[in-house]
Amino acid sequence: MIPVRDDLRALEGYHSAQVDVEVRLNTNESPYEPPPGFNDAVAAEMSRVAWHRYPDRGAHDLRAAIAELHNVGPDQVFAANGSNEVLQSILLAYAGPGRSVATFEPTYKMHSQIARVVGSTVVEGKRAADFSLDLDEVDRTCAEHQPSVTFLTSPNNPTGLLEPRGNVDHLLDVAPGLVVVDEAYAQFADWTALDLVDEQRPLVVTRTFSKTWSMAAARLGYLIGPTWLVAELEKVVLPYHLDALKQVAGRVALRFTDDMNERVSQLVSERERLAAAMRDLPVAVTPSSANFILFRPDTVPGALVWQRLVDQSVLVRDCSSWPRLDNCLRVTVGTPAENNAFLGALEASLT
Ligand code: PMP
Repeated sequence: MIPVRDDLRALEGYHSAQVDVEVRLNTNESPYEPPPGFNDAVAAEMSRVAWHRYPDRGAHDLRAAIAELHNVGPDQVFAANGSNEVLQSILLAYAGPGRSVATFEPTYKMHSQIARVVGSTVVEGKRAADFSLDLDEVDRTCAEHQPSVTFLTSPNNPTGLLEPRGNVDHLLDVAPGLVVVDEAYAQFADWTALDLVDEQRPLVVTRTFSKTWSMAAARLGYLIGPTWLVAELEKVVLPYHLDALKQVAGRVALRFTDDMNERVSQLVSERERLAAAMRDLPVAVTPSSANFILFRPDTVPGALVWQRLVDQSVLVRDCSSWPRLDNCLRVTVGTPAENNAFLGALEASLT
């Protein structure tokens, strides 16, 4: 064996248990397959791909379609293999050795994970006990550590809390470097930071096809940001990193916007039904603007509830041992039948 980099030795990889169960509500995917017509349209386009040639390196058609969706210019769009690769590219370009990256915990674990992997110093500010952002902590963290990149996740994962616009404005005022608003779940919420993106502002908003667009298998994400920043990101990605299949799938998906919006409304109403039913049980429910709900059982330890759910063939995310999330579990909103199965199993697990 040869030694890995010193700073990687203590790091663990990112894991989510993949247990064979009937009801899988642990990774915030869409419970629905893409709309009818999507597979055929992708297949038709794929039959015209010149497989012996590299794909369009600048993913021009895909970026133009995403730009049209958000009413911005194509040169404000950077696309990559899942929003995780978007985050990695941001950190490769704007963080790394000698620079620090700020997060406000608890939040999406990959922000600090990728920041460490690329060699940055991670500064973890703490959220208030109700998981809201503590603006004094934001001020202190920015002033003391001068982060090159500061993350907010809105709606936050795993809490589901939406970041009010005032918090994003405040962060933009005090952060000395780039502000990244990770909006992997923003379609399920009623506010987005997209309108704040401007050439004069060091702000990017990241999005994914994995949730709303029923395309977790495709691994496609993007950001909307200033053109000068998108141009810098092109320097850190590998040549031809977006394969032809992904470029086609992303472009075709955007023809089905109405179907996708319809699914979002269904999931939002299911989320509200699920949350209301959970509030009748002995669990504390965090208000969610995403497609999942964080909850903490009042009387039975979270890890035990997780195991009891698995025993009934329902898988949720066990956050109970994560920092600041003692006893918490997170359930993804599924189909009405899956949600009913979860509710029945949860009730049975709480006594
Ligand atoms: N950001 C957040 C907040 C997420 O929860 C996730 C998915 N777990 C991602 C980014 C990554 O999504 P993907 O790489 O599938 O686009």
